[in-house]
Amino acid sequence: MDSSILHPLDAGKMTDGELFRAMMDYVHEGIYFIDRKFNVTYWNESAERITGIPASEIVGRISTESILRPVDQNGETITSERTALKMSMLDGKIREQEVSVRHRDGHRVPVLLRTVPIKKFTKILGVMEVFIDVSVRQQIEDQAEQYKELAFTDKLTGLYNRRYIEEFIKARMDDYRKRGVPFCVMFLDIDHFKLFNDNYGHELGDEVICMVGKACSLMIRSSDLFGRFGGEEFVAVLPGTNEQNMYVIADAMRSIVENTGISSGGEKLKVTISIGATMVRADDSTESVMKRADDLLYMSKEAGRNQVTTA
Ligand code: GH3
Ligand code: MG
Ligand code: MG
Repeated sequence: MDSSILHPLDAGKMTDGELFRAMMDYVHEGIYFIDRKFNVTYWNESAERITGIPASEIVGRISTESILRPVDQNGETITSERTALKMSMLDGKIREQEVSVRHRDGHRVPVLLRTVPIKKFTKILGVMEVFIDVSVRQQIEDQAEQYKELAFTDKLTGLYNRRYIEEFIKARMDDYRKRGVPFCVMFLDIDHFKLFNDNYGHELGDEVICMVGKACSLMIRSSDLFGRFGGEEFVAVLPGTNEQNMYVIADAMRSIVENTGISSGGEKLKVTISIGATMVRADDSTESVMKRADDLLYMSKEAGRNQVTTA
């Protein structure tokens, strides 16, 4: 398998037709040709590599069956490729689809498959199918998706990070301006957290940050956002809410944190949080709505902590 591509192509005494066929063994795409009587007349090396089926087994075979044996996500053989082949044989049209084919040893290979009828004037001589293994491309796409997720995730808590929070608020601001969908922004900060770290250590401090994240996340809907803005500060964004609901949710977060705590050596360690929450206003920018929430949080701190201030 693949042996010829290790050597330069020696045209020798090849006819033009032979040379052309030999050239096709050097392309990455699997290529085969099937004539009007469904006789496989050509099968290149990449076709062999992608499917595991050698040319010696397939060339000369009459096959009205689906040669590439495309499979769906569950590994069940699907008949659409066969249909594409037959349809193109009948109507002379090019077809293109993404399917998976089953390699001889059982694993699935995602391919981009192009079915090309070969015509001579109005007569269809047969159909060529060209397929490229897109598993590498898919791996790269999956990886990019993973990296994107990582870039928006806070490592410690698994919550959305500051970058994502800011993007989310920008998008809500857009919805608000274009469609009038209101939203609120809440800033939350753990009270006297420096003291907690000093008393119990950074590790238990981290545990508290995670607990606060989890507890507050319980209070929001799936269309809302709860993220870690940094340090011991969190942000919640609730689209489509009103002032009254905003207060109820914020106070529920304050209350659940006050009552949850973490266990350490038989002791229950508790913290409280302070919150500033505000609805978006007509003249707001992303920055101004966030600043107002932060100022309101500061007022909660000034007023004695463990409370919610709204405006
Ligand atoms: P206040 O009630 O005014 O918010 O007081 P505070 O002590 O919470 O506020 P301050 O901003 O002075 O201190 C925040 C502390 O949070 C400082 C830092 O040691 C701690 N901190 C920030 N990030 C982390 C973290 O990832 N893990 C831990 N354990 N502590 C953190
Ligand atoms: Mg702080
Ligand atoms: Mg704090």
